Amino acid sequence: MHSPALLENYVAGQWVAGGGAPTALTDPVTGETLAFVSSAGLDLDAAFTFARDVAGPALRALSYGERAQRLAQIVATLQANRDDYYAIATANSGTVATDSAVDIDGAIYTLSTYAKLGATLGDAHTLLDGAAVPLAKDASFAVRHVFRPTPGVALFINAFNFPAWGLWEKAAGALLAGVPVIVKPATSTAWLTQRMVADVVAAGLLPPGSLSVICGTAAGLLDRIGPFDVVSFTGSADTAATLRAHPAFTERSARINVEADSLNSAVLLPDAASGTAAFDQFVREVAREMTVKAGQKCTAIRRAIVPVEHFDAAAAAIAERLARTVVGNPRNEAVKMGSLVSLAQKRAVLDGIAHLQAEAETLYDGNLDGDRKAAFVDAGADSACVAPVLLGLRNGASGQRVHDTEVFGPVATLVGYRDLEEAVALAKRGQGSLVVSLYSNDAVAMRAPALALADAHGRVHAVDPSVTKTQTGHGNVMPQSLHGGPGRAGGGEELGGLRALRFYHVRSAVQGPAALIEAITQDAVELPKA
Ligand code: NAP
Repeated sequence: MHSPALLENYVAGQWVAGGGAPTALTDPVTGETLAFVSSAGLDLDAAFTFARDVAGPALRALSYGERAQRLAQIVATLQANRDDYYAIATANSGTVATDSAVDIDGAIYTLSTYAKLGATLGDAHTLLDGAAVPLAKDASFAVRHVFRPTPGVALFINAFNFPAWGLWEKAAGALLAGVPVIVKPATSTAWLTQRMVADVVAAGLLPPGSLSVICGTAAGLLDRIGPFDVVSFTGSADTAATLRAHPAFTERSARINVEADSLNSAVLLPDAASGTAAFDQFVREVAREMTVKAGQKCTAIRRAIVPVEHFDAAAAAIAERLARTVVGNPRNEAVKMGSLVSLAQKRAVLDGIAHLQAEAETLYDGNLDGDRKAAFVDAGADSACVAPVLLGLRNGASGQRVHDTEVFGPVATLVGYRDLEEAVALAKRGQGSLVVSLYSNDAVAMRAPALALADAHGRVHAVDPSVTKTQTGHGNVMPQSLHGGPGRAGGGEELGGLRALRFYHVRSAVQGPAALIEAITQDAVELPKA
């Protein structure tokens, strides 16, 4: 498709090649070198200063509505180059087209949703947070809360599994807020992010410096983070813990949003026996979540929690679906599931499976004879392909590892429970997750578990037969809904419609004479609740 090039960084409104020894990006199926990246030697001070002092004021001179128009123009630019993005994803992420769509079309859909939501804010430059409240008996002195865009930079440090969506689901909110973006994609799949930024920069849609990309190591980035900058991190809990300890946050009080790993679960309610529609929905969703993007989704179902009396039926039905999954080179049209993103991830996943197998039985292993030499279509045993593996733990409460080890691949554990109270307790053994889904033939029967699980999950996704065709999927992150999760999931909040704007704003209580409080509302609009 192309000869390996050194992908440049875009900082301070200029394209700059990194120095030193570059890092190679490879095709996880063929092992071919695709491109190189390096961020060594960049003038990071200039990068942050330019974004903060030049791009920020220019962005904020526009109204929310005008910035929303820019998002719509970005959508058109990305759509025009969509085929190239699919080719990059096939080569660099090893994904089949339907899985590339989750990332690429998911990004475009999210941006277009924010373009529409942002348009409703019109020509405002300030967001209001609630009505004026009198502070004096005669109402002469009052308070009104306002949101103003933070006068800093939004730094995104992203994970490898969503090079497109991971950028735009965050940038939609930041740019709409008027905050310039510097994105550092995960190195292994940085190409797609870099290319999308290049297309948007070339289209000249945003004030110079509004969108920068740094490919390669993150070294030095957090040292530049000042008190009004915000950092949004997506990745592993271990890296998140390192980041949180940085003086940018502990001393300078910059804000950090963390989306980390998560032991998401799907819970089959006792009424949903084999032969009922809800059972089928559950089985389909578990198998789908295990195989979409080869299980490399932060929201993927890791624990499928079932009444112990339905355990065997669920195991057989999920295994039957998994056995139909053709794994291999995404370029072959027969292939339904591509490879993992790299050989390093393959090693991590195989190690993770072995770790779980110490306490869980193996109910299905698509890798032949367990010797990892499965006949992958058009891909060798030395590729990053791994076939689906379903593990099982009949007595869910007896497990430890299945509740605290996230294996980031096509792997899930079927977990048995005795009663609904135990099912809720088992789901919460994940210590806070991004999403839990519920399956029942009775919508109202899901009320109690939905509310009982909401305090430990960023999203509760409930499904009954009435929504077979309309439900949006356990793992699909809808821009209208909150994304993030408490505790182990990182404690972050993203998306959720215009709620996303809050992270990029500073809230202030303006107190003063009634006339001033009234004047504050000029050029301002109440931040809608949704
Ligand atoms: P990772 O190893 O933690 O890396 C994430 C990002 O952090 C990469 O850009 C990485 O750069 C960078 N990084 C690594 N060490 C750093 C350091 N010391 N300082 C600053 N940045 C550093 O995670 P990953 O393996 O890419 O991603 C997989 C994990 O992400 C999974 O656990 C998954 O659950 C989680 N995830 C969560 C969500 C969510 O929305 N909650 C979404 C997707 C993924 P390099 O690539 O250059 O090392």
